[in-house]
Amino acid sequence: MSQLLFQGVNGVADRSEQMKAESARTNGGEAANLIPDHCSLFPDSDKLREECGVVAIYGHPDAAREAYLALYALQHRGQESAGIATADGQHLANIKGMGLVSEIFTDDVLSKLPGHLAIGHTRYSTTGDSALLNAQPIRVDSTKGLIAIAHNGNLVNLGNLRASLERDGAYFQTTSDSEIIVQLIAHSRSGTLVDAIADSLSQVEGAFSIVMMTRDRIFAARDPRGFRPLSMGRMKNAEGPDSIVFASESCAFDLLRAEFIRDVLPGELVMVSQDGVTSRQYATGLPQSSCVFEHVYFARPDSRIFGRWVQESRDEMGRQLARETGVPADVVVPVPDSGVTAALGYAEEAGLPFRMGLIRNHYVGRTFIEPEQRVRDFGVRLKLNPVHNLLAGKRVILIDDSIIRGTTSRKIVRMVRGAGATEVHLRISCPPTISPCFYGVDTPSKSELIAANHSVEGIRQFIEADSLAYLSLDGLLASVRDEHKTGYCTACYTGNYPTQWVDVEDILPAAVAP
Ligand code: SF4
Repeated sequence: MSQLLFQGVNGVADRSEQMKAESARTNGGEAANLIPDHCSLFPDSDKLREECGVVAIYGHPDAAREAYLALYALQHRGQESAGIATADGQHLANIKGMGLVSEIFTDDVLSKLPGHLAIGHTRYSTTGDSALLNAQPIRVDSTKGLIAIAHNGNLVNLGNLRASLERDGAYFQTTSDSEIIVQLIAHSRSGTLVDAIADSLSQVEGAFSIVMMTRDRIFAARDPRGFRPLSMGRMKNAEGPDSIVFASESCAFDLLRAEFIRDVLPGELVMVSQDGVTSRQYATGLPQSSCVFEHVYFARPDSRIFGRWVQESRDEMGRQLARETGVPADVVVPVPDSGVTAALGYAEEAGLPFRMGLIRNHYVGRTFIEPEQRVRDFGVRLKLNPVHNLLAGKRVILIDDSIIRGTTSRKIVRMVRGAGATEVHLRISCPPTISPCFYGVDTPSKSELIAANHSVEGIRQFIEADSLAYLSLDGLLASVRDEHKTGYCTACYTGNYPTQWVDVEDILPAAVAP
């Protein structure tokens, strides 16, 4: 294992360097030609990517292993790097590396993480570069003691805060926005750590679900608008008190056999210590704007987020889509995997057969090389394959959850038609994506978003479908409505951002439509 970062150790190669080195060993030193720098971990570049997943464990004798299992369940939220920090009341250990959770945390590595407290993080990065230095948890030795932090989301007032902290003498070890929060804690004039954390969180603007750890305490907090999910659970221990668990999604609790207690509330700071669980609202009064795209695509269908099962939301999106955009057809086919639940809802509502007419190869991805466009076409065929006998001679309704640039959708439409479908009707289980996200989701700039620059009919022509329709915004919001009246961010569909601070350059319309 050549790519782990034990806190404070520098000079560690990143994933592509390691791949080059491995390839050099097996290919007579020609690695540079075989593994280009832009080697892709994600051949399907036409999907949006979530930035991070976080977990925290308090009061378990093998907290590192529990954090590892939880990160394993959250791996869909980031595959670029992962890290776990543990504490035993006295010491704080931290190990992070580039790659998948299972690749980084072998038995041997986990044995170097003792303690009954742990926080963990799995990351795909948008802010800060992708180097190992920016992997999390970040550990900072501050005036308030040792603090480790792991963060899901994106701050939007970084520039101002960073400049003013540097004027106050802060020295940044990383380019990650998570470190800003730790530096604000370190520079806070509040007398206690919990006051300093509350003080620092109230100064940052944007999206964050955060877990933090000192030598003997765990903290968990959500931003005042509640953009990203964060759930709290409990694990029964045969001997001794229950363990308390926090995770980005409740699907992580299932693997730990933990019981879901509740969501951490927007603007809430929860502390777990030997005195038990305490909570305070560090911010109130801002309207909730939880990310609706978590329900559309990011979160796993077996998770319960923002007070609602994701599976139920997606099923209802499919049903609503069928009611709004029905078309005569023979079969409903999902674009796997994320389109499956909505397609089941659509098929049931429309009274049409649901068929897995496209099969996804789950083993493509991490080692696939994507050097240029003509190879990328091949990548989609590597990843998806049509089931000819289900598609031939059929009028097909294809269900997907988004069209970003349109290039992948066009390849899939061509693939289904090439397998013998007589008609291909594409249905999307959310409205057109017209604006980038600033809250922890990696979106292309507006000029690259096909729906920002073309009408639905223009997109239909580009992707070569017989018809194209999207779920309406009202239909989407109706699909996620619940008795708690959760408020949602819909900025990528409307351009109306819940916070003031966004990068104006990125939301300007494209100068020239492609
Ligand atoms: S802009 Fe879109 S992806 Fe970003 S938080 Fe809002 S709804 Fe979610």
